[in-house]
Amino acid sequence: MVAQHRELVSAIPGPRSATLHERRVRAVSAGVGAGLPIYVDEASGAILRDVDGNQLIDFASGIAVTSVGHSDPRVVARVREQVERFTHTCFMVTSYEPYVAVCEQLNELTPGSHDKRSALFNSGAEAVENAVKIARYATGRGAVVAFDHAYHGRTNLTMALTAKSMPYKSGFGPFAGEIYRVPMAYPYRWPTGPEQCASEAFETFVDMVHTQVGELNTAAVLLEPIQGEGGFIEPAPGFVARVADWCREHGIVFIADEVQTGFCRTGDWFASEHENVLPDLVVTGKAIAGGLPLAAVTGRAELMDAVHTGGLGGTYGGNPVACAAALGAIETMRAEDLTGRARTLGTVLRARLDSMAAKYPVIGDVRGRGLMQAVELVSDPVAKTPDPVTTAALNAACHRNGLLTLTCGTFGNVVRFLPPLVISDELLDEGLTVFESALAEVTA
Ligand SMILES: *Cc1c(COP(=O)(O)O)cnc(C)c1O
Repeated sequence: MVAQHRELVSAIPGPRSATLHERRVRAVSAGVGAGLPIYVDEASGAILRDVDGNQLIDFASGIAVTSVGHSDPRVVARVREQVERFTHTCFMVTSYEPYVAVCEQLNELTPGSHDKRSALFNSGAEAVENAVKIARYATGRGAVVAFDHAYHGRTNLTMALTAKSMPYKSGFGPFAGEIYRVPMAYPYRWPTGPEQCASEAFETFVDMVHTQVGELNTAAVLLEPIQGEGGFIEPAPGFVARVADWCREHGIVFIADEVQTGFCRTGDWFASEHENVLPDLVVTGKAIAGGLPLAAVTGRAELMDAVHTGGLGGTYGGNPVACAAALGAIETMRAEDLTGRARTLGTVLRARLDSMAAKYPVIGDVRGRGLMQAVELVSDPVAKTPDPVTTAALNAACHRNGLLTLTCGTFGNVVRFLPPLVISDELLDEGLTVFESALAEVTA
């Protein structure tokens, strides 16, 4: 167990991390990025301890994965128990109970009380691909509509669905066909202002799908209920619900990509619940298994069961150790009321960020829900000119001071806050104080 406090005993990164990084550069492809080149030795709750003995407050959760905290006791106990029983059979070859139990949990927890089925995969991208396969099969249609600023993964189909070229797509084409992109209802940057945003974006969406794709050719509309890598963009209120309703009218499968927003992060089990949206298919991943690789597609039984037997699957999908971890993580989310915790801490976080925004004009927008919030930085608050340079400097200043933050956004000018949902009030407060000092430093 790592004690829950921040402690710096060397520069960040320290000498042992630097030595490991030299090994990494010689052994690991340069194509794999490194946000902060420290090397982690142990982690608990909301603290990462590196190989030099520095303890950092974690505002990243491995990109919204360790929502139940690092080394959650229920996850650790279930994994330990499962790993000693068996580690793999391939669920398509011989079955085991933890896979079924995870699907039961997903069917119960995702929005709506209709009859549902689930299937398990290894990564968010793989699950998104499978959601598209299911939607195409069930509708007999080919086209898929995705949004500006979307992020859905890095495989060939999901690169096509992801909006941002650098670094996700640049040089990696040609991409999969039959993907169509429409504007997102992005209130801060909507040309006519946030009040018009939902209705105008919805009209544009309907018009573009009608004229450029055709409703009868459209298998699915794929949307993140709060966009993740694209900049924590919370669609204008009402937009997601209108899109979902319109899809239903036209027999189009509405897929919510809840890979980043899911599992209590936004203060609901799933972000779609915020506006009572009922997706036909929900894609989950990231926080589902407390750090073990697992992802899922959950949805209406008639869609999920439409596919021929053998059409879905994979060697490792729903690995028993990952399923055991998921059952532990979900148990912790229920037992510790992590939706409630995300709401409570989200209110604290919002108040602090709002007060910083009032003091520092570089903060153009504060947005998000629960413990999925962000600030968008601009060099000119009127022109809203993105400021990726200050964003990078701010992120680096946080890192130097023992706070692990992440950036995101199409323009690279967003700092996002994704602490484990089990973080203590004190550590959240301390992390925000480090952040504010870094903000003061880089804007001085
Ligand atoms: C991370 C992410 C994915 C891809 O998940 P991987 O496990 O990295 O393949 C897909 N969609 C969203 C919204 C994500 O945040």
